[in-house]
Amino acid sequence: MRCGELVAGLDVGGYCADCWRARTRRAGRIARRAALAATLPFAVYLMLALPPTREWRLLGASTAVVWYFLTGLIARRVALEWIK
Ligand SMILES: [Zn+2]
Repeated sequence: MRCGELVAGLDVGGYCADCWRARTRRAGRIARRAALAATLPFAVYLMLALPPTREWRLLGASTAVVWYFLTGLIARRVALEWIK
């Protein structure tokens, strides 16, 4: 990912603005996919495990959404470390 471009004020082995943006975009894409892959089985499990009432469905849905965002955040950090 390092283009070797010399940018003033940048450490050796650092990223120029373009490379940084490309890297962040890639990490975001990987993270969305990973979060989805982690959330779908969890959402299915919640649907099967929780009683089929409106309240529990709503609670299960919001839990799945929170889970999606949390796994997305974690996956993004991991992906950024990965694609150095
Ligand atoms: Zn670059």
